[in-house]
Amino acid sequence: MTASPPERTGRHNLDPHLDRYAARTEGMTASEIRALFAVASRPEVVSLAGGMPNLAALPLDSLSAQVGELIAEDGLTALQYGSAQGIPVLREQICDVMALEGISAHSDDVVVTVGSQMGLDMVTRLFCDPGDIVLAEGPSYVGALGSFAAYQAKVVHVVMDDEGLVPEALREALAAAKRAGQRVKFLYTIPNFHNPAGVTLAVERRAEIMEICREHGVLVVEDNPYGLLGFDGQTYPSLRSIDPENVVYLGSFSKTFASGLRVGWVLAPHAVREKLVLAAESATLCPPTLNQMIVSRYLATHDWKGQIKTFRENYRERRDAMISALEQYLPSGCSWTHPDGGFYVWVTVPEGVDTKAMLPRAVTARVAYASGTGFYADGFGSRQMRLSYCYPTPERIKEGVRRLAAVLESEMDL
Ligand code: PMP
Repeated sequence: MTASPPERTGRHNLDPHLDRYAARTEGMTASEIRALFAVASRPEVVSLAGGMPNLAALPLDSLSAQVGELIAEDGLTALQYGSAQGIPVLREQICDVMALEGISAHSDDVVVTVGSQMGLDMVTRLFCDPGDIVLAEGPSYVGALGSFAAYQAKVVHVVMDDEGLVPEALREALAAAKRAGQRVKFLYTIPNFHNPAGVTLAVERRAEIMEICREHGVLVVEDNPYGLLGFDGQTYPSLRSIDPENVVYLGSFSKTFASGLRVGWVLAPHAVREKLVLAAESATLCPPTLNQMIVSRYLATHDWKGQIKTFRENYRERRDAMISALEQYLPSGCSWTHPDGGFYVWVTVPEGVDTKAMLPRAVTARVAYASGTGFYADGFGSRQMRLSYCYPTPERIKEGVRRLAAVLESEMDL
C-alpha cells in the first residue's frame, strides 16, 4: 500500500525545509522585477521593464575567432583555476579603463568579481551585521537592496532630486541615526546615470557628500556600472578620486562589453582589499579564468573605446525615442527624469494611480514596466515606475509608451 500524499494546506507542507533555514533568509524575497521577466519577455509585450544591455552591436565574428585562438594558444591556463584576486594582466587593464573616468589606481588594489553584483554581496558581507544601517538613495538599485536584505542590514533611504543625492538629506539621515544610537556602516550610491532614477549626482555636490561621510566616519560604496555611457561622451569625477581611502568602488564590464561574461571588479583601500580577497576565496575560489582572459584579450586587441561609443550612440537614440514618446503620449500630471546617459527614465504618475496595482492591466495591454516599489526597502514608490529604453528598438519604445499612456488614462478615469 502506498502512503497518501501529504495535504497541501499548511505552510509547512509547501516547503518541508521551512524550519531549517537561517534567519537571514527571511530577507530573501523574489524581487518584483525578476518575477516580471517571464511575462514581460513574451514577444507581444513591449518590455520597458528589464535592464538588459543591448548587445546587438558586438562584433560576434571576431570575438568568436578570438575565443577560439585563446583556447588553442592558452587553453590550459584559460581552463584552469586562477588567483582569487583575478588575473594580473586584467587588473592592470581595469586600471586603464578606470583612468577614463579620472581614477588613478594600482592593480594591487583591484579585485576581479563575478559581476559587480558579487562585489555588492562581498562588501555587505564584510561590513554588515544584522541590524546595521546602510544608507542608500531613494530609490536604489534592486540588486543592492537584495544583498542588504540577505545580510539583514536595514536600509535607510536618502532623498534625491534631479541633481542626485541631496547633501542636506544625507546630513539629516546621519544625525537621525546617531540620535537613535544606530550604527551606519556605509552609504551606497550610484552617482552616474542612476538605476533606476536616471539622474546624475551634480559635480558640485560630490566633495560635500564625501566630506559629510568622512565627518561621520561612514564609508562610501560607489557603484558605477554606467559611468562610460554618457551620451555626449562626458564623464564625471568619481567619489573615489575625491577620497580614495574612504571609498570602495564597484565597476563592471556588463554595460561596456558583455554582461553574460560576468566580469566586474572592486577597487578598495588596501586593508579592505585584503579582506575582500578572503571573502572572494570563500565564495568562488577564483573568478572564471576563461572569461577574464576573454575580456583581457578583447581590451588588448579590439577598439573597445570605439565599441563603447557605438553602444552610447544606440542608447542615445533610444533615450531620444523614449523622451519624445513620453512628451507625446503621457497624460498631464505625469513627470519624468531626463537621463544624459545610462538606461533608465523614472516616471512619477498622478496621485491616485498605483503603479504596482496597475501592472497586470498594463501587461494585458501588452506593455511592461518596473513599478517603483521594487526600488525601495520601505514600500514607498507606488506612484513611480522605471522605464528602460536600453533594449527595445525606438519603434517599439514609442509603441510601448503609447500603450502605457492608454492604460494610465483609463486608470485616472477610475
Ligand atoms: N549596480 C547597478 C547600479 C546595476 O544597475 C547593475 C546591473 N543592472 C549592477 C550593479 C550589477 O551588474 P553586474 O553584476 O552585471 O556587473
